[in-house]
This record gives sequence, structure tokens and C-alpha cells, in this order.
Amino acid sequence: MKINIIGGGPAGLYFAILMRKASASHQIRIYERNGPDDTFGWGVVFSGKTLANLRAADEVSHAEITRQFEAWDNVDVVHRDAKISIHGNSFSGIARLQLLKILQRRAEQLGVEVAFHSEIQDIESLRHDCDLLLAADGVNSTVRLRYAEEFQPDLDIRSNRYIWYGTNQLFHGLTLTFRENSAGVFAAHSYKFSPTTSTFIVECDPKTWDNAGFEQMSTDQTLDYVGDVFAQDLNGHKLLSNNSKWINFLLVKNRNWFFENVALIGDALHTAHFSIGSGTKLAMEDAIALAESFQQTANVSEALTHFTQTRRPIIEDYQSAAFESMRWFENAASFMHLTPIELAYVLMTRSGRVTYDDLKRRSPDFIAKYEQSVNNPR
Ligand SMILES: Cc1cc2nc3c(=O)[nH]c(=O)nc-3n(C[C@H](O)[C@H](O)[C@H](O)COP(=O)(O)OP(=O)(O)OC[C@H]3O[C@@H](n4cnc5c(N)ncnc54)[C@H](O)[C@@H]3O)c2cc1C
Repeated sequence: MKINIIGGGPAGLYFAILMRKASASHQIRIYERNGPDDTFGWGVVFSGKTLANLRAADEVSHAEITRQFEAWDNVDVVHRDAKISIHGNSFSGIARLQLLKILQRRAEQLGVEVAFHSEIQDIESLRHDCDLLLAADGVNSTVRLRYAEEFQPDLDIRSNRYIWYGTNQLFHGLTLTFRENSAGVFAAHSYKFSPTTSTFIVECDPKTWDNAGFEQMSTDQTLDYVGDVFAQDLNGHKLLSNNSKWINFLLVKNRNWFFENVALIGDALHTAHFSIGSGTKLAMEDAIALAESFQQTANVSEALTHFTQTRRPIIEDYQSAAFESMRWFENAASFMHLTPIELAYVLMTRSGRVTYDDLKRRSPDFIAKYEQSVNNPR
């Protein structure tokens, strides 16, 4: 089979790896507009379950990934200077760049051609030159735009703004920190992903964003302002920018996942709010599901139909949990009157996926404290 892939992010690279692993006769070329060392973002999070999926799909890259991982089992909620820890959550973090390097090496080792610095403009020619054209070209997919009539995308620009920073302050566990100032409420999602660095994503609602005056601020002023808001949490460390900018979260869905020989995958196909897990996890699990569909049948149309039928319910379920989580953060200001322990409980159960019983099993100390607080209100 001849496969052209636009986009050398986690989705495109991992799909190419799995297809070449299944058969060395596949001719696979990835077109990536950036160079091998250019990337955005900081760390990527995987759950224990995702790691098991990656292991089953490709032990070689799994071994490399886990060798460089930072693992933890706690979610920490910081509110009014109190830190509440909830245990029993298995997560790990790795630098996005490290992950991409591992996948690039593995793809090349298996004979995938990766053409860096190749921005694709003429999608139509590329699609007539292969059996399958896979659009793994990210959240602002040009393929999705070019064939919007066929895919019928539903793009929902959400109201909260977020900015993706790094820091050398180490957060041992997924730490959700809430700070208020005269502008409003800021929430930070942070976690360590290497021995020296943590991801530090900050989000706020549009009113807070306007009140703070970010519209008029330069990149450095923004960095200083946000650093001041979280000064106690950063413990003297600076925030680190990687071309970091405020963005509105874009919720992506598509009515049709493929047409003829063109299919979407990863962020081009769907997004889920970062508060529930990384888009990277979904992108790589898409690649596993699509490669498995090609194990069922070599017929492109049948494989893409199988992929859509099996993967869509999983993605819809995930997106609906992520939607609840996203809405919670959009309304974070309305929860700030809660005590730290109450806030932690509401936060842990926000998506409807984690129940009281789950928490009691995973983190009995936390539930004991929560019950004590409910039974002895202030
Ligand atoms: C600003 C920002 C920061 C982020 N930081 C993180 C983070 O730190 N951790 C994390 O887990 N997630 C992060 N995410 C989310 C994460 O990037 C995605 O969910 C995940 O990478 C999805 O993988 P993907 O392969 O579908 O797309 P992407 O990783 O976005 O890869 C798409 C690739 O396609 C290439 N491309 C696009 N158009 C073309 C074209 N026409 N021709 C050739 N190449 C093209 C792009 O250069 C890119 O390399 C971030 C998202 C944003 C917007």
C-alpha cells in the first residue's frame, strides 16, 4: 500500500510506525513542515492505561518512552494556600520533544520516509498519488479546511483563554492550583515531565483576562504578570516561554471522519480539553485503532469504515467527559467559596467519570478528610 501522511506529530508518526511494523511492503512517506527539532509545548501526560496500550502496540518505542518518564500517582489541589493530595491516579509525563525524537527514530528505523521542511499546499495531487492520504496535520488542519464540505467539521471556539508555559519549579504530581487577584480567578495545571522541568498551563475566563489587561501586554509583561499571580507556587522560579501565547481552546468534531481515500486523525479529527488528559494520548490511540483496522482488511474504504465505527463511540465518550471538565474550568470562579477539601472533591468528580466509591478505594485518606469536613461544617 502507498500511504502519504501530512503531519509528523504523534498521530502521523505512530500510525506510520505501526503500519510498517505490520508490513515492510507498505510505502509510507510523512510530510512535515517543521524540522526534526522544532516543536511547541512542554510535557505530555499519559495514564497507566495508555502506557499499556502503547506497550501492546509497539514494545520498542514503549521501552524508550518509559525509560525517560517521570511517574506519579497523586493529584494535588491547591486552594487558599492549602494543598490537598489525592492518591491512586497513575500518570506519567515526558517532554513532547523527547517523545517526537523517539517516534522519529523508530519510524526511520522501520523504513518510513520522513520529509521535514515540507509544507503541503497541493493536497489534491498528493491524494491522487497514493492509496491512503492521512491528515495528521493538527488542530488547524489544512486538509480539514480544504475538504470541509466532505468532513463537515464542527468547530467551537471556547471562551476561556489558556497559555502553555514551562518552569523549573518541580510539581511532583498533577497539581491544580487556584489563585485569585483583583482581576479574577486563575487556574494552573502543572506537572513535572523531566528531572528539571514542569509544564505550567494557566487558564482564566474572559472577564478575568480583560480585567487583567492582557490585550495590551507584551509577551514579557504577560509572563511577569502570570508569574506574580503564582509567585508562591513557583517558589522563586521563573515561568519559561516557548513562543507561548494566550489561546482559546478549540473544540473540534467532524461529522465525517473520511471520504474516498482521505482520512483525519488526532487533533485534526477531534480535540478534548487538556484538563482531562493529553491530546497526544488520543492521537496515538487513534493511530493504534486505525492500524488495527488495516489488519482487519486491506481495502481502504472498509478499513476507514471499521476505524470510524469502532473509534467514534470511544472518542464521543471521551469528548463528553472532557466537555464537563472544560465547563467546570470555565465556571471555576463559582467554586472558589468552597473549602480546599470540598473544592478538591468537586474537582475530582467533575467529569462524572470518577465517583465517590472510586475515590474511597484509591485514596481512603482523602475521603476520610472529606467526610470529616462534610460532617463538621465550618
Ligand atoms: C500551543 C499548544 C501547545 C501544546 N502543548 C502541549 C504539551 O505540552 N503537551 C501535550 O500533551 N499536548 C500539547 N498540546 C496538544 C498536543 O499538541 C496535541 O493534542 C497532539 O500533539 C496531537 O497530535 P497530532 O499528531 O494530532 O497533531 P500535532 O502534534 O499538532 O502535529 C501536527 C503536525 O502537522 C504538521 N503540519 C500541519 N500542517 C501541515 C502541512 N500543511 N504540511 C506539512 N506539515 C503540516 C505540524 O507542523 C505538526 O508537526 C499543545 C497544543 C497547543 C495548541
